[in-house]
Amino acid sequence: MVNSLGLVLLFALCTCAPGRRDTAAADLVFRHADVYTMDAARSWANAVAVRDGRIVYVGSDSLPSGLIGEHTEVVDLRGRMVLPGFHDGHVHPISSGIELGECTLDDLTTAQAMVDSVRACAQSQSGGPWVRGGGWQLPVFKDANPSKQLLDQAVPDRPAILYAADGHSAWVNSKALELAGITKQTRDPSNGRIERDPRTGEPSGTLREDAIGLVARIVPRRTDQELAAGLARAQKLANRFGITTIFSAATDEADLRAYSEAEKKGALTLRVIAAIHLGDPLHDSMLPRIRELRTRFAGPRVHPAAVKLFVDGVIESRTAALLEPYLDRRGDSGRPVYDPGALKDLAVALDGNGLQIHVHAIGDRAVRMTLDAFAYTRTRNGAHDARHSITHLQLIDPDDVPRFRDLGVVANFQALWANGDEYLTELTEPALGPKRSRWLYPIASVVRSGAVVSGGSDWSVSSLNPLDAIETGITHRPPGDTEQSVWNPAERVDLPTMLAMYTINAAYANHMDRETGSIEIGKLADLIVLERNLFEIPPEEIHAVRVLRTVLEGRTVFALAP
Ligand SMILES: [Zn+2]
Repeated sequence: MVNSLGLVLLFALCTCAPGRRDTAAADLVFRHADVYTMDAARSWANAVAVRDGRIVYVGSDSLPSGLIGEHTEVVDLRGRMVLPGFHDGHVHPISSGIELGECTLDDLTTAQAMVDSVRACAQSQSGGPWVRGGGWQLPVFKDANPSKQLLDQAVPDRPAILYAADGHSAWVNSKALELAGITKQTRDPSNGRIERDPRTGEPSGTLREDAIGLVARIVPRRTDQELAAGLARAQKLANRFGITTIFSAATDEADLRAYSEAEKKGALTLRVIAAIHLGDPLHDSMLPRIRELRTRFAGPRVHPAAVKLFVDGVIESRTAALLEPYLDRRGDSGRPVYDPGALKDLAVALDGNGLQIHVHAIGDRAVRMTLDAFAYTRTRNGAHDARHSITHLQLIDPDDVPRFRDLGVVANFQALWANGDEYLTELTEPALGPKRSRWLYPIASVVRSGAVVSGGSDWSVSSLNPLDAIETGITHRPPGDTEQSVWNPAERVDLPTMLAMYTINAAYANHMDRETGSIEIGKLADLIVLERNLFEIPPEEIHAVRVLRTVLEGRTVFALAP
């Protein structure tokens, strides 16, 4: 008895000994802040305290005594805003991080600027057997169709492959087509198209969807070092934008290894929920492999909990599956990647194995087929808290809007795309007509129906900065724009909705809402400090607000130099 009492006393004393802290004191305190907690009541607070990676206090500036100890870092935020760390609910971090180190064409607006940029980039990468890169915007080229001759001007001597910003098309030069053996005689793969010269029938230099694979398969595979470097670049940028959790949207074994290796080294500064992608159409014979990957790479911060399926392509290149034909392609409504029955059976098998299903569906037919498949899993496996999700959701038939709530399906939108740019006005709306175009990105309607709606960047398709999407979801204009007419105004949402999409709702989608996504006592201390309170500025200034500090589980992973 005496001994055990003595031990207790010793521990009590030890906590106060030099080099140790009072266990009651916090590690970090933010005070004099505008804390938007994202709790169920959407309450505000002024101070937050963190100990051992968790939130131990949220409330007024009169903190309980003992919370601030000798070693507590106390930050007076002088009215700056504190939010839960952002969650990016759909992103391709590793490939996008790799792209940052290659030929990037993101901001270029003319074909000539791209040729000049690729030429300069190819010269700087003179050692590599291939010239690689991406980010070209489809509307820059007539019919979204850049030619091999143009790319040959920049890279005549080596094969080159440049992905479109949306990843669903690739621009290749003559050398790449030659090495891949793609000629006039080559047939289109079942889920892809080789664009051809209408007069000669020769491949013209643009490949869509699975036709990209005809070239991509002969490009040297990424090394583990390249993947690690891509991840390092990506997470640095993500932390700078206040992102603490990501949903890695199409993750293969090499990507999982990169996350896992970073985690083992203590270098992973993001929480990663990964959707395993083994190609489409996926067959249920791949289930043992998915289960094995899920177990092998799971770690405290790495959760390979989901499976990614592509059910269609994109509207811009007429590969999305629609309920009615494209107006500019007589009788063609696009073809889904899956047969409806096969998709249902696959969904039942994945759901039955406890896997979350994350589906790329862009066209209204692909969306309906996917909802039908989720409805079918409920009849076969019973309704349970599965939180399957559909991402992109460019066109939803109004009849399908209430089904997200009814089936418990999370709707993941890229709100930045709802900005009235040329993708919409020139490549999309003319192919749909005004009646259907009303139902492009119907975020507000899905929110009103009561479904859980989450947000994601789809980086590198579009900006990784959540504030760009948060602003655009409110304004339906490009970030910072006040001139352009507001696109599809009925589907705009408010700031609290957009913030929920990037915090608590995305956490819910990942079954993480008990641990993160809001600032509440007991939750993981994933916090960000913004230089301005987003509720006190005009919406068109939101994108320019800087994140000053990003905290993941109590540890600062980004801080803006003062
Ligand atoms: Zn994606």
